[in-house]
Amino acid sequence: MSVSIENERQAAGQAAGGVDQPRVERAVREILLAVGEDPDREGLLETPARVARMYAELFSGLHDDPRVHMQKAFTEKYDEIVLVRDISFNSICEHHLLPFMGKAHIGYMPQGRVVGLSKLARVVEVVSRRPQVQERMTETIADLIIEELGARGAAVVVEASHTCMTIRGVRKPGSLCVTSAMKGIFRSNLSSRSEVMALIYGGRGG
Ligand SMILES: [Zn+2]
Repeated sequence: MSVSIENERQAAGQAAGGVDQPRVERAVREILLAVGEDPDREGLLETPARVARMYAELFSGLHDDPRVHMQKAFTEKYDEIVLVRDISFNSICEHHLLPFMGKAHIGYMPQGRVVGLSKLARVVEVVSRRPQVQERMTETIADLIIEELGARGAAVVVEASHTCMTIRGVRKPGSLCVTSAMKGIFRSNLSSRSEVMALIYGGRGG
């Protein structure tokens, strides 16, 4: 983060590690004025505060470190693929500030260290609650698994529907964006990759 932005945040009185809700409120009021609305009409009076609370929730991942959730890894001799499928998430596309939502599938090949399955879901939650692009989100999750667990391989597939594509622009409802990140053995070894992909899409005819 640049020094000037950091100074600006401090000048705005933003508590370290939080969303500056009064500032969001002022900005939302500005947007309402800019689009030609009357922010003082009854229906909109509470909107800036409501949006500010919503942003605090949707962007809470900016102020949370996903690595924290992988600290409680434990030693286990299991050395086959661990897969958690269909972890649902909501995120906000950083290009349009519109939601995209879908499912993440995470597979990894441990190397002596495994993590509680719910922790993988927590990692997805933290990473998704930031202004995001799906490609980076997918890579970030895979990198975290390699770095924090020392896994032999990580395979992450994310399938999502982007409202910036379905309600505006090209307007393609029903379109699904699929991204994948293959690390370690899932990148270098074709049969390991086929195995994890079969597990991810198993029983779904995908
Ligand atoms: Zn977008």
